[in-house]
Amino acid sequence: MHPREKAVDAFQKQFGKEPRFLAIAPGRVNLLGEHVDYNDGFVLPAAIDRATFLAFSPSEDNCNHILAADFNEQADYSQFTLGDKCDLDGNPLRDWVYYPAGVAWALEDAGLEAKPIVGAFSSNIPRGSGLSSSASVLVSFAVAYQQISGWNIEPMALAKLGQKAENQYVGVNCGIMDQFASACGVENHLLLLDCRSLEWQTVPLSDQLAIVVADTSVRRKLTSGEYNKRREACEEAVAVLKHHLPKINSLRDVDVIEFEKFKTYLPETPRKRAEHVVYEIERGKSAPALLGNGDFDGFGRLMEQCHASLRDLYEVSCPELDLMTELAKDLQGYIGARLTGAGFGGCTVNLVHAQVANHFAQQLAQRYNQKSGLTAEIYVCKASRGASVENL
Ligand code: ADP
Ligand code: MG
Repeated sequence: MHPREKAVDAFQKQFGKEPRFLAIAPGRVNLLGEHVDYNDGFVLPAAIDRATFLAFSPSEDNCNHILAADFNEQADYSQFTLGDKCDLDGNPLRDWVYYPAGVAWALEDAGLEAKPIVGAFSSNIPRGSGLSSSASVLVSFAVAYQQISGWNIEPMALAKLGQKAENQYVGVNCGIMDQFASACGVENHLLLLDCRSLEWQTVPLSDQLAIVVADTSVRRKLTSGEYNKRREACEEAVAVLKHHLPKINSLRDVDVIEFEKFKTYLPETPRKRAEHVVYEIERGKSAPALLGNGDFDGFGRLMEQCHASLRDLYEVSCPELDLMTELAKDLQGYIGARLTGAGFGGCTVNLVHAQVANHFAQQLAQRYNQKSGLTAEIYVCKASRGASVENL
């Protein structure tokens, strides 16, 4: 069942009435600029046509009653239990509840009322695959609370509150890109975000191009620990480089020439991590002009360089992601491919000539299965609009 129907259906069954609204918040795929959002760099994501669907109504008893339809689990919390991260019975919140409760907490913390809701949600974004199911859950609740509580803020401000919930309530030290893309997506466009100023612009996606997402079906454990280690290595690199470049505050402030001049002062691991970031920020800067000029192959080379750098310097790839990108290169319609998201499994993103995109996806799935024995879900994605709320 499609998650839209599943959410509405589950709401009716669980709460015995019709929901009044439906919030829809998409996942995202990032075309270029990986692991640079927390280094003040440039990212180029698109919201995709897979989303979290949240059927909801105002609550009548001052408490939130939330059903995760994909897990068939209900959680009940109120503004008085949020601070202690427990439910109405005093039990600790289960993992998934941290996302909706974290949004309510972040809103209240920012002085925005989060009137309680009754809701049921379901999503067709695979979890932990690099398409940001977590941000889509957060943003779906942010727009739902906005709808019920009678205030209105910009999508980017909602994204920032979602990030605060994930950083401070869930405890994941993520950057702003995921929530931003889910909140601010524009149909048929990529979004170019400067993660330092938070200024952004849209980049039209030519109708000659298609985005193909290929899920390796592999999920690695311990990714959050590795993620934090990468962040620490970047901070260490900044601290060392600051002795030579006192004005820098992040790797964004180090250009390629300066980096090449001073990189010998860095220990090996921070050097490799920083080299990825410095060159990836450079790639992010040149990408929009390539797309604007129709130099799709030039953009494809940047994607390939990005993947090689994530594999060899940032060391967040895995054999299945490497295999998926290599197999893509031999197929008709291929322009570029790389791992997308934090890495260690999950998805690759492929830029493909639109006319042959479906065939490309089929062929890639078949060859990946032949080589690895694994079944991959591979599909053509549409760049989609950001989060919205419908009256039901
Ligand atoms: P991703 O890369 O997909 O964002 P994360 O580990 O950041 O992976 O987030 C996945 C977590 O988000 C899940 O473990 C769960 O707690 C929550 N989540 C995502 N989708 C759903 C869903 N459909 N129902 C309930 N919780 C969800
Ligand atoms: Mg996530």
